[in-house]
Amino acid sequence: MGSTYKAVEVSAPGTFRVVERTISEPATGQVRIRVEACGVCHSDSGTVEGLFPINWPRVPGHEAVGRIDALGSGVQGWTVGQRVGVGFLGGPCGYCEFCRDGDLVNCRNQEYTGIHHDGGYAEIMLAKASGLMSIPDGMESADAAPLLCAGITTFNALRNSPAKAGDLVAVLGIGGLGHLGVQYARRMGFEVVAIGRGSESTELAKKLGAHHYIDSAASDPAAALQALGGAKVILITASGGTTIATSFKGLRPGGVSIDVGVGPEPIEISSMDLIFGERKLAGSLTGNAATGDATLRFSALSGVSAMIEAVPLEQAAAAYAKMMAGQARFRMVLVMKNGKS
Ligand SMILES: [Zn+2]
Ligand SMILES: [Zn+2]
Repeated sequence: MGSTYKAVEVSAPGTFRVVERTISEPATGQVRIRVEACGVCHSDSGTVEGLFPINWPRVPGHEAVGRIDALGSGVQGWTVGQRVGVGFLGGPCGYCEFCRDGDLVNCRNQEYTGIHHDGGYAEIMLAKASGLMSIPDGMESADAAPLLCAGITTFNALRNSPAKAGDLVAVLGIGGLGHLGVQYARRMGFEVVAIGRGSESTELAKKLGAHHYIDSAASDPAAALQALGGAKVILITASGGTTIATSFKGLRPGGVSIDVGVGPEPIEISSMDLIFGERKLAGSLTGNAATGDATLRFSALSGVSAMIEAVPLEQAAAAYAKMMAGQARFRMVLVMKNGKS
């Protein structure tokens, strides 16, 4: 590679183009990364469709794995050649009121990768050192990529939930997020219920580690969960507000539905169901970088992996379209020439 690199940028809503860009030096606090793989995530639509205010052109991608190739001034704790991951959260500032209180996810000055600055659909990217995650040796870059967003999101929500080993935990939706959520829930020691639509997912759910499968098209998921004793936690990975509402009564008293699937639909839950049983509805946003490290380590230790379809960087537009059409099984990953493939 010379002084330029290949990137896939979005030049206007819905328009991808492959471009050559000039390599630049990392600024203070940043590292430069030779990207080996980057996952394609549903949240990339925030950039591609312009749902966030975007300064065009913008390179999407927030599931990037690569090797550090240069350190900006002031960067400590990271070395050139080290393999790292970059997720959705661009890195906390370290000085705002939330950072000072240890809540790095809700940092007031946090940028989102691929939205506020260029992301991982590229052979080279710049990233803030405070947001980096370490990739375990022996884990392929393409396999690690989806764990940096879909992985950390489901792992973090379950890990910080009130469920303890042996408790009944449901994972609603068996897609990009859900197929990881089921695996994590099983490996964390819960009694796991997968909830999907249609009977064809039964076998997959069991293969991923679910003890039970509820077909929400054939039965009322809330009643089915109550028949199993009621869920301590329902991890919602599907985006429909109605889906969240119809499963809510499946929580046992004191249980919580944790939503990690973003969608435009409002969630209508009756105050009766909320109050009688003291149930809770919560949201969870990805996780901090240390939780990212833990996600990757736990995945390697316990054999959790995303089912991926890897394609070359140049096919980003097609990969994005396939993911948006719901045809990815289950995560599309772009691979760069920097990597082995
Ligand atoms: Zn901050
Ligand atoms: Zn994502």
